[in-house]
Amino acid sequence: MVDRLAGVKGMNDLLPPDSAKWEWLDERVRSVMQRWGYLGVRTPIVEPTALFVRGLGEVTDIVEKEMYSFADRLNGDQLTLRPEGTAGVVRATIEHNLLYEGGKRLYYVGPMFRHERPQKGRYRQFHQVGVEVLGWPGPDVDAEVILLVRALWRELGLVEGQDVHLELNSLGQPSERAAHRQALIAHFQAQAGALDEEALKRLHTNPLRVLDSKHPSVQAVAETAPRLLDFLGPESRAHFDGVRSVLEACGVPYRLNPRLVRGMDYYNLTVFEWVTDHLGAQGTVCGGGRYDGLIEQLGGKSAPAVGWGLGIERLVLLLESLGRLPAPPTPDAYAIVPDAGALAAAMVALDALRQAGVRVVLHAASEQGPGSMKSQFRKADASGARFALIFGHDELAAGEVTIKSLRVADAPQERRPLSRVSDWSAALKAGGDNPASV
Ligand code: ATP
Ligand code: MG
Repeated sequence: MVDRLAGVKGMNDLLPPDSAKWEWLDERVRSVMQRWGYLGVRTPIVEPTALFVRGLGEVTDIVEKEMYSFADRLNGDQLTLRPEGTAGVVRATIEHNLLYEGGKRLYYVGPMFRHERPQKGRYRQFHQVGVEVLGWPGPDVDAEVILLVRALWRELGLVEGQDVHLELNSLGQPSERAAHRQALIAHFQAQAGALDEEALKRLHTNPLRVLDSKHPSVQAVAETAPRLLDFLGPESRAHFDGVRSVLEACGVPYRLNPRLVRGMDYYNLTVFEWVTDHLGAQGTVCGGGRYDGLIEQLGGKSAPAVGWGLGIERLVLLLESLGRLPAPPTPDAYAIVPDAGALAAAMVALDALRQAGVRVVLHAASEQGPGSMKSQFRKADASGARFALIFGHDELAAGEVTIKSLRVADAPQERRPLSRVSDWSAALKAGGDNPASV
């Protein structure tokens, strides 16, 4: 016996029937993006390691301990499986001069990789939908990207302020953060005994991130820390008020969370998260904010930007826990071909039906043949199809197919001509259960 190989821990297979849920979600996402004028981008999964080190900041969870990095075996280049989407999109924007004629609204969907401890809602390969709006400085686009998430919730049957909550903060500008930073370090130093090793280490490298600590005693000290919001100058304040007034006008409930700092260093001004109570510790479904310094930091011509990333696994878990995922789609018809000699003619008819948009599954024969009529009907029934299409010897001789209901036990069977499939294909897919309606 050869050893069976298992997949990589924390990296999941997506199989039927779950894959149908993801396909449904993908369609809803694309539909919303199209209505909002966002254009799709696909960037490589592998990027130079330096992109993330420079983009996200050295002293971040991701860069310090979560990246899958390796040397290219052929030339030694340092490469990394992307842990998030923004850095790659910004790199591509710079490389292809995408902003030469003004701003861009972009979105992406795809896998991300982080070496974390796998648990519910936290995996080593996971998937994100994200948007990046590049080139516009105003609070209007900050509000727009948040409203876009709200539109997505509505598209998926989630209610903001109930199933998902918006938390909002402003990180101000670098000079305001510097003043706050001094006050923050002083605050934490005065209570150094409550800090864990990680907080002590970050106290001087990145004290803002200490606010983000999950350690209880550190959290307690963070609770009373000086608030960045109180250090904002008039311009940052006006920007934040601009975002808030649009959200209020559009009826988006939110909570000001002065401790919301986000995991990457690149953010400034507006930051936000959409959180839920239904996923335990992994409650953040979507997070984002403004990152006006990143494009320049990655070597481009300075330009403002704002965006967010949303975890698809967490969104699916949330929809599942609330029972909001649709039932997987079922075929309209299941085709049974009892007479092997009829197979070619049956395939021609099925091809025409599928071209007309009808969802048809063919009963495929096993090594022992197609099986008894009874077992074929059992399979037909289990497929969820509404009709069985029977391509028997008599039918074929008459150039016809029999349509039998799989849902209404005593509904009479009907025969339809194979030469004029287009006459009855629309009725077949329309949704009735009775062959007479076809
Ligand atoms: P967390 O605090 O939960 O680790 P994060 O701040 O690291 O989240 P972001 O980098 O902002 O997360 O990524 C955006 C979203 O991607 C998160 O809100 C979450 O929904 C999802 N996400 C992040 N890491 C994972 C992971 N390891 N597994 C599954 N989803 C994830
Ligand atoms: Mg994280």
